[in-house]
Amino acid sequence: MTFTVVTLWLSGMLLGGIGSFVLAWALFADRFRGEHGRRRCRRCWYEMAGVAGLQCPECGHTGRDERQLHTSRRHWRQAAAGSLVLLLGVGCGWYATGSVIGWRSVAPLGVIVRLSPIIGREASLRAIAQGFGPTNQVATPIEAASEWLLVGAEELAVSVLHDKKSSLDEIIAARDVLQWMRTRVKDPFAVLAAFSSIPPSHPAFQVIGDESHRQVAYLTKLDENLLWLMMRSVALEPEHVGAQLIQDGLKPENAPLAVDLVLWKPVPGVTWPELARATPDAIAVFLRRCRERYFSGDDEMKHRVTRIVFPNGRFVPPGNADFEAMARHQIAEMMQGEIFEKWNGETLITLQLAGALSQMAPEVARLLDIDAVRPRIEGIFRLGVAPKQMTPQVVSEALVEAICIGSDAARLAALRIADRRGDCDQAMLAEAAIAAVPFVRDSITLDALCRRVFDLSADGGALLGVEPRIDPDHEYQLEDALVRNLAAPGQIGSVSARWLGMMPRPSDPAVEALRAAAQNATNSTSLRNAARDALLHIRDRANPSIDPLTPLELAAPK
Ligand SMILES: [Zn+2]
Repeated sequence: MTFTVVTLWLSGMLLGGIGSFVLAWALFADRFRGEHGRRRCRRCWYEMAGVAGLQCPECGHTGRDERQLHTSRRHWRQAAAGSLVLLLGVGCGWYATGSVIGWRSVAPLGVIVRLSPIIGREASLRAIAQGFGPTNQVATPIEAASEWLLVGAEELAVSVLHDKKSSLDEIIAARDVLQWMRTRVKDPFAVLAAFSSIPPSHPAFQVIGDESHRQVAYLTKLDENLLWLMMRSVALEPEHVGAQLIQDGLKPENAPLAVDLVLWKPVPGVTWPELARATPDAIAVFLRRCRERYFSGDDEMKHRVTRIVFPNGRFVPPGNADFEAMARHQIAEMMQGEIFEKWNGETLITLQLAGALSQMAPEVARLLDIDAVRPRIEGIFRLGVAPKQMTPQVVSEALVEAICIGSDAARLAALRIADRRGDCDQAMLAEAAIAAVPFVRDSITLDALCRRVFDLSADGGALLGVEPRIDPDHEYQLEDALVRNLAAPGQIGSVSARWLGMMPRPSDPAVEALRAAAQNATNSTSLRNAARDALLHIRDRANPSIDPLTPLELAAPK
């Protein structure tokens, strides 16, 4: 019992005593003095015992009748004052009792909630929610609560949540009340809006939730059960509730909520095998919500969405527009050299998503240009994790894209993939390789492109004696491109000369160009050597009987 309560108690008794006394005196003083019933003037209370008639000789007032002259004298103003003091005393006593033994015991809850300005908002709310929560078991059954109580309780709780000056305890009490009455909330939207109105600077913000409240405000259209989940998530850890929704078997109507809840905090990549049981509808809704959150959020939110999608990529159907929109955004970012390193490689472009990515294989192949991502992209195409979707045709088209418009490193990677898979469209790749020859600046890439045109394996063993094969349709296109390359700087000229020497039926202009390259003293030694070797190859192939040690005749052919 606190000092305040004792003081209130004593004041209550004192005020009660004083009030009762004043009231009693005001009403019954006449009677106590024995003057009750005497014949007196009604206005000035002059003794009229010896006066005949109804008129007062003192003030001239004329009474209505004989009975009126016998009225008891009562002091109404004093009586009112006394009543007030008495009430005050009773109030003090009531308040002291309420604070000691609990408000629930001294008034109906519907009254308590409306007396919140006097007894305090927290105390009012606590009286209602008393017993609600994990520790206490004596909550009022929600079914037993009157409408009148619930209306007042909701109003008070919402006003507490909205009030920027509310204390942490008040807000928690308001939350508990709303949680208790969750199935009978009148205006769920107002409740959620109230939760959302807590400013981030308020200590309750950490306890009650964050920005995500706003995002889930749409939930109010959903059923009571979901609303309850929402309320519960405010108190518990939302991401766990979200994961539970997924593990219970994702349903289309739950999917947006599940996404919102698991996005509550950054979660480490979680795999939900239960998604295998989800219907295509539910997966579609799930991904749609992911996309909404992805594009309405900052980088942090994008990363969170990515971290719930990419470990679960097996369940993303190929050609899903929502998934592709997010993946496309990440491809664009990665083309600028962003995201990938920032997120430590956690992007939607991963091995797990090979199937989901199949429809956008050419776009993914463009990433072979980017050093940081190249190994991963190579992995996607080489392993062909989902062969049903990643058909040879799809992969070939993607590789053609990389060979034609990619960087030299991308071309090389694309050729490595083609060698590794062995199921690509050879003609398509050869044509792409020829088209790329004039643009290559790296001699190793040029070598690999030529080998691809000659349909040789990447290990280069074919150069050691196997007769190279080349499609006659490709022969002159390649020769033409290589002749032009003889003038290119660096090793490009030498490599071009060497491959010209491999041509089964070199044309006269090609032989002439090699001759000129070998004879031109301003050319590099390496180019001149390569041109000479090519000419020797051509000569020896044309005349199998010639002694290989015969010096090369550099004069123009007859
Ligand atoms: Zn009188």
